[in-house]
Order: sequence, then structure tokens, then C-alpha cells
Amino acid sequence: MGHVDHGKTTLLDTLRSASVAKGEAGGITQHIGAFSVPVPVSGQSKQESRTITFLDTPGHAAFSAMRARGASVTDIVVLVVAADDGIMPQTKEVIELIKKDDGKVGVVVAINKVDKPEADVELVQHALLAEGIQLEAFGGDVPSVEVSGLTGLGLDTLVETLSAMAEIQDLRGERDGQVHGYVLESRVQKGLGPVATVLIVRGCLTPGAHLLAGTAAGKVRLMNDSTGAAVKSAYPGMAVSVSGWKDLPNAGDEVLQGPEADVKKALAVRIRKAEIESTLVDAQAINMHRMEERARKTDEENHVEPKQEEQTAKELRLVIKGDVSGSVEAIVGALEGTGNKKACVKIVSTGVGDVLESDVMMAKAAEGMIVAFSVNTPRSVETSAAQNHVPLYSSKIIYRIMDEVRDRVTALLPCTI
Ligand code: GDP
Repeated sequence: MGHVDHGKTTLLDTLRSASVAKGEAGGITQHIGAFSVPVPVSGQSKQESRTITFLDTPGHAAFSAMRARGASVTDIVVLVVAADDGIMPQTKEVIELIKKDDGKVGVVVAINKVDKPEADVELVQHALLAEGIQLEAFGGDVPSVEVSGLTGLGLDTLVETLSAMAEIQDLRGERDGQVHGYVLESRVQKGLGPVATVLIVRGCLTPGAHLLAGTAAGKVRLMNDSTGAAVKSAYPGMAVSVSGWKDLPNAGDEVLQGPEADVKKALAVRIRKAEIESTLVDAQAINMHRMEERARKTDEENHVEPKQEEQTAKELRLVIKGDVSGSVEAIVGALEGTGNKKACVKIVSTGVGDVLESDVMMAKAAEGMIVAFSVNTPRSVETSAAQNHVPLYSSKIIYRIMDEVRDRVTALLPCTI
């Protein structure tokens, strides 16, 4: 975690490609929200293999969802601070999070970009100390490692430090019993249907296991790691992409294993509950809409001039679609809060997968627009959107989407010229 542009992505990419290079050749890496790095085991103990799993879910949406449920799947946080930039607002946010956690989560500081001539490691260390991070260099217990994600300098030391911390904290997972885990990411994949990356916290996951996650259930068909290699059994700490779901689970959903009959029963209960909740929400939305319409009509009939100061905010209502749940949540995070008191964004619905006719209907009902990130829109749906006067904006670049939405919100503002 760390401030934007401090080099998290670069660091992860370098760690990932180094681990792929070291591992068996031939694998096609795919983004599944996590990857593992082999750790050299010190000492002369028996050939015990050990790995560290890095979670790299975009926007860390799964983490916020899991945190909201009080679940913590990270054992150690790597706080990335650029040596040429120092402590920035998001660095402080992470430090606050770490402090709130009361020492339950381990912390390692990665002072990044040390290859840059303007890097000032000591300045960063002092600033961290001032923020209450007790660095080892000053007699505390938080290790810091100087790294460069760009050149790969210090990455071995970072992995060794993480491994040593895991050993000291005696981080272990229970391999027996029913599987317990969390969904890091989910998507629909051609030929496989719904696929979810599951981080195993307890138990051993094998094909054939019956799983429940949110309101999705399934029987594990295939499991793969981030190099694309097939996995026969997944143990605590491992993250594997799992196919065999009947529906698409959401990022952050808790994953539970059970006998087929129990999973079915629990699923039925959850679906009924979700249906009741969504009916309530729909009914509320429809009522609100009707009331607004009625008020507008009465105003028109009475020729009431809308009073500037009493007007409520104009809303740009959005139906958001994206390729994976992580990206959807990242877009929601980026767009939420756009605008001000007079005009703002309201997210009506979100979903994973291609733009569908139902999305057009939803946007039409809400008098909003569709925002699509890295997904396809079938020609027939495009036509329907045009016929229904539903604007549809599609892009593979999140910043373009942000710009488009900002422009449209600005256009809603009352003209001041
Ligand atoms: P993120 O927003 O934290 O994921 O940051 P990125 O990984 O996207 O990096 C932001 C910018 O900093 C990019 O232009 C990177 O090439 C650059 N960068 C990242 N790590 C290093 C580093 O170790 N050294 C140097 N010189 N540049 C880096």
C-alpha cells in the first residue's frame, strides 16, 4: 500500500516477473489478483518449500469489502514510500490504518526509487518516525528496506525480510477441516464461465469441493495459479483462480465449503434474503421517481419557477459495467464523489461482464447513462441504447472514463455566464 505513483505497480510487476523467471518456464501469467513468490528457506532443514503471496487487486476493493466485514487476510502490509517524494496523504492514510489495527498486522516499509539521484532515504526515515512508525534503524521493530522497483535492487532483501517476519510471527494456516477463504477477484471467462480468485485461509481446496460465496455456489472444476499452471490442491496462503461456479461471486465475499446439501440450503436462504432486499430497494426507487415526477408536473401546472436555492443536486446517474469485479470497484471508487452540491454522480447499479439489454433498461429507468470499462457491447444493445436515448460511454482507460463523467457532471451545472 502507499501513495499513488510511489511505485506499487512497478514493484509488484518486477516481483512477479522475477518469480515467473525463477519458476518453471512455459506458463502464461494472468492477472488473478494475487501471485506467489518462492522464498529460499534458510538453515539446513529438510527441503521445505515456502512462498509469499502478494495481493495485487486493483483498487484494493476486495480489501475494503473484507475490512468492512471485519476480516483481515493480510498478514503483513508493505508500505511503499518513494524516496524522492516522502510521506504523502495516502501514505498517512495507510499509517492510520496500521495504527488502528493495533499491531495485529505486520509492517515492512519499502523505501522505493532509491535509484533516483534525488532520493533521500534518511529524510524519509525521519519523516516516518515523526508519523509514529518505529523503524528498526532507530531502535524500533519495523524493518525498512531500500528498493527500486525499476531496477530490481533490494527486492531479494524485501522478500527475505517478509519471510523472516512471517517466521517470527509464526504465521501458519490450519490445513485441516472445511475450506475457508475470500474472493479477491471474479470475472466471466470464455469456456470456463464464472471464475473467482480464492485466497485460502483455512483447509485444503481440491476439485470437486462444494463452495458458497455470497449468493453464488459451485463445485470446483479447475484451479490455476497466476502462472496459468493447474493446481491440484490449494493450501492456506495460496490464491487460485477457481472455475465451476453457477453464478459470479463478488470480490470480498467470504468463501465457505460444505456438503452439497448444506451449500444448497444456505444458498436458498441467502437468495431469498437478497430478493427481499432488492425488491425493497426497487420499490423505494420507483416510489421516489414517481414522487419526483408528480412534483415536477404539479410545478409545471402551477407554473412554479424552480427556486435556485431550494433545488436539490442534479444527478448524473450511472450504470457501471467492467471486466472484473476489481475494476468495477476501482471505477466506483474513482467516480464516487465526483461533482459538488449542485451536480453530482449517483451510481445506480454495477456489474461484471458485457453491456446487456437489461443495463440499457436500468439506465433508461434511471434517466442515466452506461459507463463500460474493458467490456464489449453487442451491436443489438448499442442500437437499443441509441433508440432509448441512453448515452453509453465505453473505454479501456479509466482516466478517459473519469474525464467523460466529470465533463457530463459539469454540463449539469446551472449556467453562470
Ligand atoms: P503506483 O501508482 O504506486 O502503482 O506507481 P507506479 O508503479 O505506477 O509508478 C509510478 C511512476 O514511478 C512510474 O512512472 C514508474 O516508472 C516510476 N517508478 C516506479 N518505481 C520506480 C523506481 O524504483 N525508480 C524509478 N526511477 N522510477 C520508478
